[in-house]
This record gives sequence, C-alpha cells and structure tokens, in this order.
Amino acid sequence: MKTTDYIERSEKNILHTYNRYQIVLDRGEGVYLYDVDDKKYLDFAAGIAVNGLGYHHPIYTKALQEQAARLTHISNLYYNTPMMEAGEKVLKASGMAKVFFTNSGAEAIEGTLKAAKKYAFLRDGHAGHSIIAMEHSFHGRTVGALSVTGNTHYREPFEPLMGGVRFARFNDLDSVKAQIDDTVCAVIAETIQGEGGIYPADPDFLTGLRQLCDERDILLILDEIQCGMGRTGHYFAWQGYGVEPDIMTCAKALGGGVPVGAFVLGEKAAARSLEPGDHGTTYGGNPLACAAVSTVFDIYEQEHILEHVRDLTPYLEESLEGLMREHSCLTARRGKGFMQGLVVEGRPVGEIVTRALENGLLIISAGTDVLRLVPPLIIEKDHIDEMIGRLKASL
Ligand SMILES: *Cc1c(COP(=O)(O)O)cnc(C)c1O
Repeated sequence: MKTTDYIERSEKNILHTYNRYQIVLDRGEGVYLYDVDDKKYLDFAAGIAVNGLGYHHPIYTKALQEQAARLTHISNLYYNTPMMEAGEKVLKASGMAKVFFTNSGAEAIEGTLKAAKKYAFLRDGHAGHSIIAMEHSFHGRTVGALSVTGNTHYREPFEPLMGGVRFARFNDLDSVKAQIDDTVCAVIAETIQGEGGIYPADPDFLTGLRQLCDERDILLILDEIQCGMGRTGHYFAWQGYGVEPDIMTCAKALGGGVPVGAFVLGEKAAARSLEPGDHGTTYGGNPLACAAVSTVFDIYEQEHILEHVRDLTPYLEESLEGLMREHSCLTARRGKGFMQGLVVEGRPVGEIVTRALENGLLIISAGTDVLRLVPPLIIEKDHIDEMIGRLKASL
C-alpha cells in the first residue's frame, strides 16, 4: 500500500505537530485533488482558505514558471518589478496607502503589532503601550501573534507571551470600551472570526470600533488573513461593512498557494509608524511570491471572481440550509460568501470530517463544533450539488 508507506516515512522524520488525515495528496486539477492512490476528492477546504483559484490554473501556473526561470529571490536590499506590481494591485484593491510583504499570516500580524506600537511611541513619546484583542480570536502561532490570540489551549504552554494584551468579547462594544485607557495603541479583530468558529462581526460592532478608535487616536487592525481576498465577494470583508481599518493583515489566498502575506496600512498609519531600520524580512516580497500575488489579482479581474462569489453565495447558503432542515444535528449556519460554518450538535465534528474524506469530500472544522466550508472561489453550482450529496452521505 502506497499511502501507509508514505505516512510511515513522513512520521519518521517530520516533527509530529499535526494529527494529519490519513491521505497523501499528489496533484490537483480545478477544484479536485487526487491522492497517491489516485482517489479523487472534491475540495471544499482549499488548503485552509488558500487556493482561491483551485489547482493548476493555467495562467497562474505559467506566471510562476516564467518567474521561476527569471528570478526567485534577491533580498530586500534591492528593488524588483514583481513586488512593485503586486504592491500596486494590493493598494488598488484595498484603497489603502502602503504595503509590506511577509512570508505568512503570523508574520504579517507581527509586523502589524510593531507598526501599532511604533505609531503610539511617536504619538506619546514613550513606549509601554497595550493592545486590545478579542476572545476566541486566532492570529497565528508565533509568540507575538499568539499573544493576541484568544484561545487558552494554544497559549498556555508558552506563557509568558508578549505583555500588555487585554481581551474583550467579540461583537460586544461595551466590553471593548471597558478595556480602553490612555495606554492602548490598537484594537485587533478578525472581520470574520475563522478558527474560532466562523463568527462574522456585527455591522454595529465594527462601526462602533471605528468610532472608538478615531475618538482616542487608536489604530484599528482588521485581520483579513482568512476572510479576505474575495472570500466574501469583496476583496476584503471590511469593504462589505464600509468600515476601513488603519492596518489590515492579509495572507492565505493572497498568493493562491505560494506562501506570502502582507500588512497594509492606511494613510495615517503609513505616515507615522515603521521607518528604515524598524522592520525587515529576508524573503518577504521576493519576486516569486510577488509574481504569484500579481497574477492572482489579474485572474480575479479577468475572471470576475468577486462577482462570481456574490452570484453563487445565495445558492450555497440555500443548499446548506436545505441540508440543515434534513439533518437535526446541524443546528445553525453562520458566515458570509464562501466562508460558511455549520454548527453540529450531538456528535463530534471530526467524525463527520473523516466520513466526508472517505466519501471523497474535503471539509474542515472550526472551533469545537463547527463544520467549515471554505472552497476555492471558482466552484460552480454543480460542485455545490456534489458537495451536498457527499456531505449527506457523511451525515
Ligand atoms: C491562518 C490565519 C492566521 C495565521 O496565518 P499563518 O500563515 O498560518 O501564519 C492569522 N489570522 C487568521 C485570521 C488566520 O486565519
């Protein structure tokens, strides 16, 4: 058996930090993945909301091939053209002022925290500022990102983390107000909480945060790493709320599968925060990663990906609600666009995910009791029908 051999080999050398599903994936085509035994899977996980354009998109593949043959890395000591092109496209899509490219989501969060601290340092003339983060949030696994992640299980073995972080309740403006004082430099939240269980921000909450931050000259940081890059039918989920952050983080689908992240600053934060010498990265913004970002934006425009997500969302939502009516273990649906969660009661979510895998469907969990669907943005109606059929069989 090929699969078990490969798994045994992997476990011999790769540090066991994940309890992986027992399949070895080999290649992808469109919205389907194939394992080493040639079994086919419909992919509603997209590598955790990364592969927005699915697999083996011809324009994307060609752009990467060409860039690999030309130049992959030069460091940030020099300029490169893919970085300036990718930068222009990020700013055009967001309407924001400046961008810094990173290698991952967590690294984008780290840079954002430093930018916020530097902003307040310049504002007050001294350091020692605090940050308000949200309960049940997820911002990544590095020490700084963990410090603002509201999940005890992820944090506990690594305490003490970065100091000066206070937690408030997501979608509860009063709980944020209760934590505000003169030391606060930023409020950080996901526009839609992902790992925590797919909780979209209430419009009033985001509007309230914006007002509060403006009144106190505090930076509003929105983490768009999972919900951004078209997943809600807008480039960035905050655009659907009409509430602009001072800094946003982006990663996951940004490079369509190549590891790349970014933090993006509005005029105010860009004008007074990180300066030469304050921050850096060896790989960040390298030509290969930025060629990926650049071509992702081009394809989104050419193939009207945002419109497609908006057009197909009602069908996805209706299909999921139909499934809920037939299965009493599904008790609620939450989400926006192609970022959907189904709350499961009375049985472990992990069991459903494993069954789905056996039935040729990749889905993931979120929080403790949520089935998460974050498919490639190029799915069609047929794929939704197929997903519902396979999920039914798994329930
Ligand atoms: C995945 C994720 C991160 C961390 O990104 P990595 O690339 O895994 O470091 C941060 N914030 C949110 C909202 C995420 O979904």
